[in-house]
Amino acid sequence: MSDSVINPAGGDAMKTPLIGLTAEQLRDVAVAAGAKPFAGKQIAKWIYERRATSIDAMTDLSLAVRERLKESYTVGRREPIGKAVSTDGTVKYLFAGVKGRDIEAVYIPDRDRATLCVSSQAGCRMGCKFCMTGRYGLQGNLTAGDVINQVLSVDGSEELTNIVFMGMGEPLDNIDAVMTAIEILTASWGLAWSPKRITVSSIGRLKELARLLRETKVHIAISLHVPFSDERRRLMPVEAAYPITDVVALLRQEDWSHQRRLSFEYIMWRDVNDSLRYAAALAKLIGGMECRVNLIRFHAIPDSDLRPASRPTMEAFRDYLSARGITTTIRASRGEDIMAACGMLAGGADKPESADTAPLS
Ligand code: SF4
Repeated sequence: MSDSVINPAGGDAMKTPLIGLTAEQLRDVAVAAGAKPFAGKQIAKWIYERRATSIDAMTDLSLAVRERLKESYTVGRREPIGKAVSTDGTVKYLFAGVKGRDIEAVYIPDRDRATLCVSSQAGCRMGCKFCMTGRYGLQGNLTAGDVINQVLSVDGSEELTNIVFMGMGEPLDNIDAVMTAIEILTASWGLAWSPKRITVSSIGRLKELARLLRETKVHIAISLHVPFSDERRRLMPVEAAYPITDVVALLRQEDWSHQRRLSFEYIMWRDVNDSLRYAAALAKLIGGMECRVNLIRFHAIPDSDLRPASRPTMEAFRDYLSARGITTTIRASRGEDIMAACGMLAGGADKPESADTAPLS
């Protein structure tokens, strides 16, 4: 069991959170507290299905077992410490984080869908030049419990239809916690979600990406953004370690024709990567794959020369790829007024004065 970077408040601060533990781990916890092994699944049901917030609520465990559990454990649920509501209905939640860097989760309602964009790290060490999260470096990894807590603690949690690992952090830089969180989200003893409701977005750390492909069935989104290696490296230093050509070569080994979806994310910057020369190079790079391309409008961040591409330029780019058989969409921009849009999450740092962010307590 790893230490949480988010400490529960009050007298429970020194206790181990149960949230984020797997059924197997909970079985060991139950046995150590004097219960039968099957009590592990009872505890899992209380935490993940019934969403209990206290051990006292677990009434099918004996009083003696509950008392013993409470000596060392707490459920570990933590409410958001703030939230900001966008005019488009998007809600950004702030959770207490690590070393002064809080973490954010973004709730995005869209007709019959409700998506939660979760963070996997407090900050990020990938250093992408266009991203607020990357600007502040990495303060620490989140635990599986920290990720699941975001899912269970936002308003409307029970109505969520999709989860995307597209918040703060590079999920594959914290692979163990992310894999455990996916296990809890999809297991019958956990939230019992279909993996088709989960998308992990990554810059494509190769070894970890191979593991994610091998051990899960979640959808994959790759942050591509620039098809030319030398230019990509200037905006995404990670290109030096994980060239996009190697990432695509790995992805080509998968069968994408069934169930699982592969998408490439492409943020468009004016006069940087928005001409048809880039569209042609992108089509060549991913041509023949069963995939889609999401074109994303850039959301300007402070102290950056990068500017968003124009709508007509994005449409021409989309039409070029579509004409070559690559399904391409322009992703709707959500939550820009509360700094919740793609690339703008900074864990409470650099909030615009207009943002309607209020402490909840
Ligand atoms: S874009 Fe993603 S990988 Fe790059 S710095 Fe931001 S959070 Fe990290």
